[in-house]
Formats: sequence, structure tokens, C-alpha cells
Amino acid sequence: MSQTMRALVKREAGTGIWMEQVPLPKPSTNEVLIKVEKTAICGTDVHIYQWDEWAQRTIEPGLVIGHEFVGRIMQLGDGVTGYMEGERVSAEGHIVCGHCRNCRAGHPHTCPNTVGIGVNRHGAFAEYIVVPSSNLWPIPDEIASELAAFFDPFGNAAHSALQFDLVGEDVLITGAGPIGIIAAGICRHIGARHVVITDINDYRLNLAKNMGASRTINVHNESIAEVVDELQIDGFDIGLEMSGNSTAFNDLLHHMYHGGKVALLGLLPDGTGCDWDQVIFKGLELHGIYGRRMYETWYKMTQMVLTGSPLHKAMTHHIPIDDFEQGFELMINGQCGKVVCDWTGTI
Ligand code: NAD
Ligand code: ZN
Repeated sequence: MSQTMRALVKREAGTGIWMEQVPLPKPSTNEVLIKVEKTAICGTDVHIYQWDEWAQRTIEPGLVIGHEFVGRIMQLGDGVTGYMEGERVSAEGHIVCGHCRNCRAGHPHTCPNTVGIGVNRHGAFAEYIVVPSSNLWPIPDEIASELAAFFDPFGNAAHSALQFDLVGEDVLITGAGPIGIIAAGICRHIGARHVVITDINDYRLNLAKNMGASRTINVHNESIAEVVDELQIDGFDIGLEMSGNSTAFNDLLHHMYHGGKVALLGLLPDGTGCDWDQVIFKGLELHGIYGRRMYETWYKMTQMVLTGSPLHKAMTHHIPIDDFEQGFELMINGQCGKVVCDWTGTI
């Protein structure tokens, strides 16, 4: 095996991402080496590409980016048990410390010492990646690699949607980005009544409709209030904030029914305010969502795909890795759902 590999590297402190030859990583104790088959582009990768304020304060130039991937185990480091060479796996992108109170209580998704793959250590936009074996998630043969490649954001959607019991409930999702679109599919799959989703992008609203949203709203042309009237409801029982937009967040609070429950996934701008009367007088329950549950969300995701949740409808582009620039452009313009890049040369 060659001692170098191709990888997308954040070389310069500025806009862009560069395909370079970098050293092949070696698995340490309790780690595995994975030959990557597919890597999907996340909004986080786009922030790193665009070198926004968050990226400037978070990313060390020289980093191999990417954390949404699937591949096959090539080599087991010392001490790894329970996995075999050749096994097809994805992996949780948050590496937790294992010794803090939350990790030891069995709530590692709330570990304060998380290290992010492709953010704080080398990532999956590469021919090979090394991850701790404890982060692996084996993929059943029935699930296509291009879908397994984006189990990580599927996990954000699933963790949000499964936070509350939404069987028979009316759900409002603000933001039809890739995660909002996938969440619409999950809500439909697990038995919500109305699944209403908002955005300002018709392309993405159409994807959400195709995934199972019962009503889409382009907030530039139509208000949530009009749709509440049309559906003859008093408000929504469950809200999933997935836009990261403060106007959308406030709109969502205003259209929650009394006693409603809200999952907050979108990263709201600093200083975002809200009408606290909406929260207090309606007795709303707000829940911050970070990442996914390890590994119960992964289990539920796998079973939802195996029972027909239409995850494939969220993937709009499957491109060779050499076309990565085109993939980032699609993501920046928002004319896409999930964009998956292939390293195997088979598409
Ligand atoms: P995205 O940025 O692609 O999606 C956001 C969508 O919101 C876009 O389609 C945008 O057009 C839409 N939008 C903008 N203004 C709106 C408005 N006023 N009303 C309705 N929609 C509006 O992002 P994504 O990858 O789907 O992720 C969704 C959000 O979740 C982002 O804010 C992202 O940063 C955040 N996120 C959080 C976590 C976490 O662990 N908490 C993990 C991943 C992503
Ligand atoms: Zn911890």
C-alpha cells in the first residue's frame, strides 16, 4: 500500500479546499483504518470551505475535512475486538472522552470534551481515515453505501424527530435544508398527522414534499398562520427548528399549540431573542439538540431505513470525488439535497 493518499485539505486560511497528497494515517490502539468509499458534504464542510468566522476560530489549516462517510475496515489497531477487516461501516463523528460524568452516566452525546472528526482531527474526505473502533457503526448489506454515507446528518434529523412522541401529532419543521428534508421523511414514516415544513427555497421544499411533508410553505409567499387556518388546527404540537434563522424560530414559537414541544437543532445567531410569553404562557418545552444519541439514534436510523423510510429521496447528487468543486458549489447555492462524493471510481 502506498504511504500517501489523496485528501481534501484546508491548506490556506481563506476560501477553498485543496486536493493534496497527505501521509496515510496509521491506526493506534483501539482504532481502525478504513478505506473510504463515499463521503457526503455537510454544511460544516461548506463553512470550512467558505472560511467564515466560525471556521477561522475553529479550524487549523492543514486539516483533512469531512465526517459523513462510509467505507470498509482495512486494518484493526491493537486491542480492537468485535470488528473484522472488510466490514462495511460508517462512524459517529463525535469522539467522546469516556471519563466525564456524562460519558460515565451513559449519556456520551452530552460529553463536554467532544473531538469532532474533520473539525478537530483529520477527517473523511480522504482515501483512508482512522477512527476509534468505539465510533463505528456497521452497515447492513441491504443499505446502499451512498445512503450510509450520510447517516451522520440523518442522525441529527432522527435525534430531533425522536425527541418527542409525535405519533398522530401535528409537526412544524422550520428549514428544509438536508436535515429538515430528512426529518420530514422521518415524521411521516413514524406516524405524525400533518407534517408542515417551511423554507425560502422552492427546490428544497419540493424535496421535502417528495420525502413525505404534507404541506410546504415558502415563507416569502405564504405565512404559517394561513396554513394553520387551512388545516383547521389551533397550532402545532411538535416543532423542529432546523433553519438556524431567528425569524423562523420566532415564527415557530408563535404557531405552537399550548403544551407543545420544540426541538432546537439549527444554530441560531448570537443574541437571538424570542417572545418569552410564547414559551411561558403556553407552557412550551424547548429541547436543545446536539449530534445524536450514541448509539440508540444509529440503531433507530438503521431500522427506519430497513422499514422503508425514503432516505434515498434526500440524495440529489452522487458525483465522483474529482468533481468536489461542483459539489461545494451546489451546496453553497442550495440547489441540492445531500451531495455524496464517490472515491471508488464506480460512478
Ligand atoms: P442548511 O443551512 O442547509 O438548512 C437551513 C435551511 O433553512 C436552508 O434550506 C435555508 O434556505 C432555510 N431557511 C433560511 N431562512 C429561513 C426562514 N426564514 N424560514 C425557513 N427556512 C429558512 O442546514 P442543514 O445542514 O439542513 O442543517 C440545519 C441547521 O442545523 C443548520 O443551522 C445547521 O448549522 C444546524 N446543525 C446543527 C447540528 C447540531 O448538532 N445541533 C448538527 C448539524 C447541523
Ligand atoms: Zn465525556
